[in-house]
Amino acid sequence: MSGNRTFTMVKPEAVENSDSGAILAKIEEAGFRIVAMKKLHLSAERAGKFYEVHNERPFYGELVEYMSSGPIVAVVLEKSNAVADFRTLIGATDPSEAADGTIRKLFAESKAKNAVHGSDSDENAAIEASFFFAELEQF
Ligand code: UDP
Ligand code: MG
Repeated sequence: MSGNRTFTMVKPEAVENSDSGAILAKIEEAGFRIVAMKKLHLSAERAGKFYEVHNERPFYGELVEYMSSGPIVAVVLEKSNAVADFRTLIGATDPSEAADGTIRKLFAESKAKNAVHGSDSDENAAIEASFFFAELEQF
């Protein structure tokens, strides 16, 4: 079951721009089922914990500041081959390199403010989903 799930966040600039509904529609149209969803504002401490794997990278401080700058929408998704198919749907990290029609190409402002998060492995998808949602909140 965990192999069929991934985790995403609509990032602060996309929420601020009122793009979360359009982004979620694209995700559902692509065949993903919403398992859990909530809107919340991460503290810098919680954002830092979520992105801890990047804490040695030069952009870490800015990333934590950005991800705690406004509310996000956290979502657990289900589909066969969820992690890889979702990475294809969102496109490259840098929207200038993202394929046409991808969510980042359509909605991202920059490499940092790139509209959405997507898990990079089944293992991290499970860790990230449980960071935001209890088992009883996932349907
Ligand atoms: N990021 C950034 N500058 C970079 C690389 C990444 O600001 O040079 C930010 C960007 O918001 C990205 C996040 O850090 O989504 C996590 O980076 P990662 O390499 O995991 O990219 P992703 O998996 O999100 O495509
Ligand atoms: Mg990543």
